[in-house]
Amino acid sequence: MTRFTILGTGSSGNAALLVTENARILIDAGFSCRKLTQLLAACGESIERVDAVFLTHEHGDHCAGVEGLKKFPHLRFFANAATARAVQAGLSHRPDWQIFETGARFVFRDIQVESFAVPHDAQEPVGFRFTTGQDGDLFSPRRSLALFTDLGHAPQNVHECLRDCDVVVVESNHCPELLKADTRRPWSLKQRISGRHGHLSNHATCELLAAVGSPRWRRVYLTHLSRECNSRAAVETAVAPIRSRFASCEFSIVEQGESTPFFDLG
Ligand SMILES: [Zn+2]
Ligand SMILES: [Zn+2]
Repeated sequence: MTRFTILGTGSSGNAALLVTENARILIDAGFSCRKLTQLLAACGESIERVDAVFLTHEHGDHCAGVEGLKKFPHLRFFANAATARAVQAGLSHRPDWQIFETGARFVFRDIQVESFAVPHDAQEPVGFRFTTGQDGDLFSPRRSLALFTDLGHAPQNVHECLRDCDVVVVESNHCPELLKADTRRPWSLKQRISGRHGHLSNHATCELLAAVGSPRWRRVYLTHLSRECNSRAAVETAVAPIRSRFASCEFSIVEQGESTPFFDLG
C-alpha cells in the first residue's frame, strides 16, 4: 500500500510525505524541524521513521528544515549537486548527501525516482516522479506520483511525465489579477513571480492540465497558492472546466496552513 500526504504547502513552507511498503520519504523540508515534527505527529508519523528527504531546490520554503534535521543523522538527503551546494552554504553541519544527476533514473528502496529540470529562479530546480510496483503485478501494481511545485512554465518533458501518473501535485500559485492589484509587492518581484522562471498562475496550471489530461489520473492536488495573490475561489473557477472533463479524478485545492489526509494509491 502506497500512501501520500501533503504536510504543508505555500511560501511559508512545503513538505509532503510518501509512504511505500519499504520506504518513507519526505519531499522537501520547508518547515522548521519542530514544525515538521508536529506535522508528522498530526498524521501519526514521526521523523524517526522517515528514511530520506528529497529536495526540489534550495529556496527556504523547501529547505528551511534541513539545518534542524541534523538532530536526526539517520536521514539521507537526495538532491542534485547544484542544489546540495546551495543548501550546504547555509548549514552548520554536513548532511548525508546523496547526489543525483537531474534526469537520471535511480532506485531508492522500492521507489523508482525520476527528476525533471524545471524553469524556476533557483540553481538547478527539479520536479520528481516517484513510482512503485510494476505494470501487471497483481500484488504490487505500478503507482506513480509526480510533484511539480515551483516552475514558471511546463516544458514538454513535464507534460509527458504528468500524463503517465496516478497522482499529480502541481502548483497553482497566483491569480494574475490579484497579483497585479497587490500593493505590497514591488513591480520587480511581480515580474519575477509571473515570469518564465517564476510560478504557474491558475490559468497556466489549468492550461497545462487541459493539455496533458490523462484517464490515469486519480487525484490532482493544486498547491503552493499565494496567500495574498490567490484564493480558493479563484482556483475553483479556473479549474472548473477541467474538473468536469475529468470526472473520475478528484481535484484537491490545498491552501497555506492546510495538511491533507493520507491518500491511498493502492
Ligand atoms: Zn522556489
Ligand atoms: Zn516554493
